[in-house]
Amino acid sequence: MNELLKRHSFSATFLVLFLGSVFLFSGGDGEIQRLNGFTMGTSYELQIVDMPEDITADQLAIDIGELLSGLDTEIFSTYAANSELSRFNRHAVNVPFIASSSLIEVLLMAQEISALSAGAFDITVGPLVNLWGFGPIVRVFESVPSQSQIESAKDLVGFQYLRISPSNQEIRKTRDIYLDLSAIAKGYAVDQLAEYLDEAGVENYFLEIGGELKIKGTKPGSQGWVPAIETPLDTASQVYQIFYSRGETIAVAGSGDYRNYFEEDGVRYSHEIDPRSGRPVAHSLAAAYVIDESAARADALATTYIVLGLDDAIALAKRQGQAVYFIYKSENEGFEDYVSDEFAVYLGNN
Ligand code: ADP
Ligand code: MG
Repeated sequence: MNELLKRHSFSATFLVLFLGSVFLFSGGDGEIQRLNGFTMGTSYELQIVDMPEDITADQLAIDIGELLSGLDTEIFSTYAANSELSRFNRHAVNVPFIASSSLIEVLLMAQEISALSAGAFDITVGPLVNLWGFGPIVRVFESVPSQSQIESAKDLVGFQYLRISPSNQEIRKTRDIYLDLSAIAKGYAVDQLAEYLDEAGVENYFLEIGGELKIKGTKPGSQGWVPAIETPLDTASQVYQIFYSRGETIAVAGSGDYRNYFEEDGVRYSHEIDPRSGRPVAHSLAAAYVIDESAARADALATTYIVLGLDDAIALAKRQGQAVYFIYKSENEGFEDYVSDEFAVYLGNN
């Protein structure tokens, strides 16, 4: 008999703790303005050092709230029936659809990462995500789908069925695909927040949406930010590894198989789906962290590496010269790490 189904759904992965935020500052060179709330099915937190004088904290909160809800409910959400993405998902096959520049930008980046990973990352994975019960379409019976259901869903998956014409802002589907941007949209929103703050003249900040980060400059007192990677377990967060932003502007994203999953017959089924098999990933790689200039790219690549599994992930990271930190299950129950040279630089504070 089936074990009682157990669903663990801590909204999105929450992979990064913020040691940078636990210290109190007194009499430093500046002040931290904190802003937090909810967006894209998860929480966000912004820490801004030395607010520009021409903008009040209230105005900033309004602008940030508008920016985020615009990206979420108006563009990227598959949970909002009238978002641009939901409208495109319902749009007819082979009929051009005029898309916003934000959507086009994200779709182009997603397609590039699909090509790079030979389809391990694929935003047309939506029908499989829904079939396995991790999307907005709620299944009546939550259980492992049959092979024939998986095959039917897989028929609608393939990034080659999405055509993008940036020159005339048009997108088109050549099969009845359903896009899911959950693995890239939060990162893109972080990049947009960063752009807003850069334009407002903010020199030092720590931005986070659902564990995807962008960090610039320093905390008050010229100390670098110190993010932490958590141990890949579904228990309360524990610090696994801290690292240092070293005053650089970096984006950091993580993906893992351990927060958002369900269990049946003692088997764990994660929300990270391999579009090539149509099934949740099942291998030793438990968490992948990526540092990049772009949070959208870091977000998508973290998912890509988790789907690829340790060996292929290492091979791709090496080819790309990417800063990555992988945590995988060792044969004797514990965890082991793979840290690329590009990431190792951030483990030291000088
Ligand atoms: P989180 O959203 O928890 O931060 P990720 O960034 O790894 O985690 O995104 C995972 C989400 O992306 C899944 O819940 C699903 O909606 C979608 N997804 C799952 N598998 C893939 C894949 N192979 N390619 C692209 N998106 C995926
Ligand atoms: Mg991701």
